[in-house]
Amino acid sequence: MAPAKPMPTVVGEMTIIWDFDRTIMDDDSDRWVVVEMGLTQLFNQLRQTLPWNSLMDRMMEELHSQGKTIEDIINCLNRVPLDPHIISAIKSAHALGCDLKVLSDANKFFIETILKNHGVYECISEIITNPTFIDKEGRLRIFPYHGSTLPPHGCDLCPPNLCKGLVLNQIQDSMMETKRVIIYIGDGGGDFCPTLKLEEKDHVMPRKNFPLHHLISKSSVPIKPKVHEWSNGEELNKILLHLIHPITTNPAD
Ligand SMILES: [Mg+2]
Ligand SMILES: [Zn+2]
Repeated sequence: MAPAKPMPTVVGEMTIIWDFDRTIMDDDSDRWVVVEMGLTQLFNQLRQTLPWNSLMDRMMEELHSQGKTIEDIINCLNRVPLDPHIISAIKSAHALGCDLKVLSDANKFFIETILKNHGVYECISEIITNPTFIDKEGRLRIFPYHGSTLPPHGCDLCPPNLCKGLVLNQIQDSMMETKRVIIYIGDGGGDFCPTLKLEEKDHVMPRKNFPLHHLISKSSVPIKPKVHEWSNGEELNKILLHLIHPITTNPAD
C-alpha cells in the first residue's frame, strides 16, 4: 500500500480560459491599433467589403506601405493599459497552480505583445487565436484561425474564422481523465458558443451588460455552468480568486 498522502489539494486542476478584448484588455486590441495608428477612415471605408481578419491584414498592409515598422506597431501596443486588478488576477491564478489559456478572436501578435509588456505572458500556457507572421518585407500578416490549414467549423453561432466552442471541446477532450474544472471569462457574442459547451462543474464569468451576459440571460437553451457576472477588473479579480480558493485551500485550514 502506498504511504499516506498529505491532505489532497486540487491545485493545478482548474483551467481558466480568458477572452482577450474587453476582458483581459478593457478596450479592443484591433480598435486600439486602428485608432492609434490613424487608420480609422480607411477601416470604415473597407469594413463592409472584407471579412474581419482580411480587413485587419489589409490595415497592416496599409501601415507597411506608409513606412510604419513592426517596432511602431509594438510601440503602439505597448501603450495599451491593463487594469492592475486583471494583472493581479492572472498572476494569482497562475501562482495557485491554475492552467491559464487565452482564447481570442484578436490575433497572436497583438495579444503576445500586450501580455509581454505587462509581464504576464509567462503565466499563460497557450494562446489560441488568429495566427500572424512577419513577412520578408517586415509586414505583419494576419490570418483566420480556421484558415487554409483547418477545415471550416460549420458552427452557425460563430464567425467563419473562429469557433471558440470547437476549440473549447478540443481543450475538454485533452483533459478527459482529470475532470478539471473550467472557468471561462469573456464578454462577447463569440463567447456564447463555448459557454454552451461547459458542464455543471464549470463556471462562466460574463462581463455584465456585454453581449455574452445578454445571450446567457435570454438563452432558451439551459446554461449548465455556474454564472458569475463581473463589471470591472476589481470584481473579476475578487470572484475569480473566490472560485479558485475553496479548492486550492486545504479544507482543514
Ligand atoms: Mg471579448
Ligand atoms: Zn461555434
